[in-house]
Amino acid sequence: MAVSESQTYTFQAEIQQLLNILVHSLYTDREIFLRELVSNASDALNRFQFEQLTNADVLDPDAELAIRITTDKDAGTLVIEDTGIGMNRDELIANLGTIAQSGAASFLQRLQEQDSQNVSATDLIGQFGVGFYSVFMVADKVTVTSRSFRPDEAAWTWTSDGSTTYTLELADKATRGTTITVYVKDDEKEFLEPYRLRAIVKKHSDFIAFPIYVDGEIANQQKALWRRPPRELSEDDYKSFYKQLTLDYRDPLLHLHIVSDAPVQFYSVIFIPEKADRGLFSARTEHGLKLYARKVLIQDYNKDFLPPYMRFIDGVVDSEDLPLNVARESIQTTRAIKRIGASIKGKVLAELERVAREDPDRYRAFWKEFGVFLKEGIATEPGDAERLSKLLRFHSSASDGEMPTVTLDEYVARMQDGQEHIYYILADDLTSVAHSPHLDTFHARNLEVLYLIDTVDSFMLMNLSEYDGKPLRNVDDASLELPDTAPESEPAQAALEDDTFEAVRSRFAAVLGERVLEVRESHMLTGSPLRLVTPEGQPDRNVQRVYRMLEQDFEVPRKILELNRRHPLIANLAGRLAAEQDSALVDEVIEQLYENALLADGIHPNPASMVGRIQRLLEIATRQAE
Ligand code: ADP
Repeated sequence: MAVSESQTYTFQAEIQQLLNILVHSLYTDREIFLRELVSNASDALNRFQFEQLTNADVLDPDAELAIRITTDKDAGTLVIEDTGIGMNRDELIANLGTIAQSGAASFLQRLQEQDSQNVSATDLIGQFGVGFYSVFMVADKVTVTSRSFRPDEAAWTWTSDGSTTYTLELADKATRGTTITVYVKDDEKEFLEPYRLRAIVKKHSDFIAFPIYVDGEIANQQKALWRRPPRELSEDDYKSFYKQLTLDYRDPLLHLHIVSDAPVQFYSVIFIPEKADRGLFSARTEHGLKLYARKVLIQDYNKDFLPPYMRFIDGVVDSEDLPLNVARESIQTTRAIKRIGASIKGKVLAELERVAREDPDRYRAFWKEFGVFLKEGIATEPGDAERLSKLLRFHSSASDGEMPTVTLDEYVARMQDGQEHIYYILADDLTSVAHSPHLDTFHARNLEVLYLIDTVDSFMLMNLSEYDGKPLRNVDDASLELPDTAPESEPAQAALEDDTFEAVRSRFAAVLGERVLEVRESHMLTGSPLRLVTPEGQPDRNVQRVYRMLEQDFEVPRKILELNRRHPLIANLAGRLAAEQDSALVDEVIEQLYENALLADGIHPNPASMVGRIQRLLEIATRQAE
């Protein structure tokens, strides 16, 4: 349809809400509007380049791909112009009149969730970047004149003052691309100063791959950082590139610059962020590497280079060896991608090994955030498991402090004479490890036990059955035989006579019935009255805990109950049984001890259900105390 006079349209309600916030917000970093407009222009240029790979029928095929910023103090206007893909009338309506799934949409969503979380709108503006509309923080009026790359489309002008409506009219623009005219508010005149604009471009958009001119002079680096020789670049160059790439306000924890000529030619800059939780505010909504083929941006989030467990990694890959006309779907099938991926993965692992060796503090910071990803890698990427296992860090009975520091190599070096296994305990946290009955004898014999307290540990164990030829063994394994290291001290308490102990044992068996496989004497326990052990071959024993956490049809597994015939509590029960008194109380204590053992192993399905019984027992205990 061709209409010459201007037509007025109403913004979608969400945009009106957004505009209202932006116009009235006292946000201090209003300069980010320029970052947003330049980033849109750069996207439009990328998309044009991508189009041109397969389509020769475009308007102005030879126009320079560039962004031009010009100022006019007299008119009070700032103009941002690009030779990108452009928009036709329908696209102007769809892109600048409604919100699809842009940063603006997530901004509004966060805003709605914000009340309980003490985040203000102005805090969110900078972190999200609210796209095009942020220009209304500094403008009382904006016009967008755009002409699509499709040769037979007309040019249109979109105009709005940022209230509730916008207008569209046919425009007179002969060249491809978009020209945005910002009518700068009276109290925002600083944005008409070229030196100020140049500084903003340098700060936020230095690594945009197209030239950005401010009043005719180039204002950005232009040459892609990853194509420059690493020796010419400073730590600060990488930091600043990382921030422009991810909008993370923190410095990255690590960076790697890879320049490779053979077997495939590629450039890559890889970052490990400081924190794993960047997702919330990050401009990069997905994980993956930014992929360029011969300087053309092909994909924002390529996931084919690195295995899923390395999804915490950000960065850019640029290769001359990738076919330019790769259709997006066929990218992952090219051999070059596989080779580049293998090379980057190897470099990342080698760098982690280096940092672990040479810079333990930094490695600790890495491990704190990303250790669980490496554990996941052992479970999901068998080919990497051996290398990853050397990067693991554990708490153990021989370490203290908040951070896990023990490596498997250290463990092996500390093994006792005759010790063939690496012992571990699965638990919810360090506190429950401290109270675990399973460790009695290990403490007494001075055998080190690794504490596995991450949810992902159970999965990791599926692919980590031995290290350095030493099998890993769970301390609750019923068939465990410990090396002949004598306990350091003999237990003080005398053991119960055989028939007295048998009376207690059979009482436990009768009360617990089907819930246990067997009740037997323990040769391991010293300080604890009882524990549950797992018979060999019980299916998925490492996964039981995870089932319980997921509360998915969890059935308490039937285990072997072991009693300590030297423990006073067992002796007391024997005494009561012999005197034939309080048999109801004895049974309640047996129930409670069994549930204590479930709790100690992190497999109690419903700990709160014990409160009633504990109260009854406390009542009795306090009554007797009087
Ligand atoms: P986002 O960039 O997060 O998608 P914006 O509100 O900034 O959100 O922009 C909305 C859409 O308008 C963009 O996705 C793009 O399709 C279109 N657009 C914005 N600026 C330009 C431009 N200079 N050239 C072509 N299209 C543009």
